Amino acid sequence: MKIKKILLSMLLVLSVFAAPLTGNAATKSMSVHFIDVGQGDSIYIKAPNGENILIDGGKNGNTVVSYLKKQKVKTINVMISTHPDADHMGGLDEVLKAFKVKSIYAPKVSHTTQVYKNFLTAVKKEGVKIKSAQKGVTVPIKGVSAKFVAPVKTYSKSDLNDWSAVLRLTYGKKSFLFTGDAELKSETDMLKSKQTLKADVLKVGHHGAKTSTSASFLKAVKPTYAVISVGKGNSYGHPTSTVLNRLKSSKVKVFRTDKQGSIVAKTDGKTISFNTKPTTVSSASTAKPASKSKTYKLTAKLDNTRPKQYSTVRLTVKGLPSGTKYKAVFHYKTKDTIYYGKTGKTLPVKISRASTSYRVYVDVTSTYKGKSYKARTSFLPK
Ligand SMILES: [Zn+2]
Repeated sequence: MKIKKILLSMLLVLSVFAAPLTGNAATKSMSVHFIDVGQGDSIYIKAPNGENILIDGGKNGNTVVSYLKKQKVKTINVMISTHPDADHMGGLDEVLKAFKVKSIYAPKVSHTTQVYKNFLTAVKKEGVKIKSAQKGVTVPIKGVSAKFVAPVKTYSKSDLNDWSAVLRLTYGKKSFLFTGDAELKSETDMLKSKQTLKADVLKVGHHGAKTSTSASFLKAVKPTYAVISVGKGNSYGHPTSTVLNRLKSSKVKVFRTDKQGSIVAKTDGKTISFNTKPTTVSSASTAKPASKSKTYKLTAKLDNTRPKQYSTVRLTVKGLPSGTKYKAVFHYKTKDTIYYGKTGKTLPVKISRASTSYRVYVDVTSTYKGKSYKARTSFLPK
C-alpha cells in the first residue's frame, strides 16, 4: 500500500516535470492571422506561449472583435496601432471596449480626425499609457523576438503612412515583417539604418500601392511569402500591377485577403504553413493580358431612331467588358451635347427640341486597357 503511494507520487512528480519539457520542444506554434477586414489592415498573432498580439483593427471594429472572440481571445497582451489612418486605427476603439488590453504601442504622431480622438478616449478608459513605437524598441513577448524597425525618423504630418510602426517578429528560424502603410521614404530610411529586415513573410506595405515595396526594399527583405491586405474592388486600385509584378519577378508567393479571405500562417519556428494556397500567377498579373488581348468592337444602338421632339431615346453601348466608361457626343443642329455612360447599361437621353428632319449623329468613344474604341449611331427627330 505504502509503496504504491510512493510510486504514484513519483509518477506525478515525473509527469509534472515532463509535461512542460515536451510541450516546449517542438509542438508549440505561433499563428499569424491576416484578418480580412476589406480595405485596411488587422493582424492577430497568437504567440507560442499563448500571448495575444493585435496589429491594427481595420476600419470597423466589428469584424475584428468577432474574429478574436471566435479565436477565444480574452486578453490582448500587446496592441499595436501602426499609424492613425482610419483603415488601420478605426476599429481599435471597439477592440479596446470588447477586450482587456494590457499594453499599447503607437508611433508618436497625432491626428485631428474623429477616429484618432475615439482611439485616445478608449485608451484612456482602459487606463493604459501608450508606449512609443519607433526603431529599436523591443516588445516583450515570451518565446519570440519582436522589435520595431520603423519609424526610423520623424516625418511631416502629410506623410502619415511613413510614420507607420514596422514590426519584425522572429520565432525560431522564421521571421515576419509587418509594414503597415510605410512608403518609399520610410523604406529608404530603414535600408539606410542597416537593420536586419530579412523576413520569410512580408505584409506588403500600403495594400500593394506602387509607392511601397520598392525593388531595393524587397531585395533586403527577401521574403518567400507576401500577404496583401486589401479590399475587393477598392477605389484605390490596390494592389497595383507594379507591385504584383515586382513580387512575381522576385518569385515571391502571394496571398491576398480580397481574393482568399483571412490568411492564416502557422509556424513552429522551422517551417511555415498557410491555410490556403498562394494566388495563381495569372491572377497575380494584371499587366500581361494586354499583349494577347482579344479584339473588341464597340457598338452603339438607340432604341428609337425616329423619336418625337421632347422624348427620350435610350442609348446602349456594347462590345467592351460591361461597366467600361464611355463618352457619347450628340451632334445636334445648333450644338454638341456630351453624355457619359457605362457599357452594358442603357443611357436615357432627353432630346428636347431637337430640330426635326436634321439627323443627329451620336459619336461614342471609350478607352479600354490603353486602347481607344469608336462607334457611331444616329437618329432623325420627327
Ligand atoms: Zn492603409
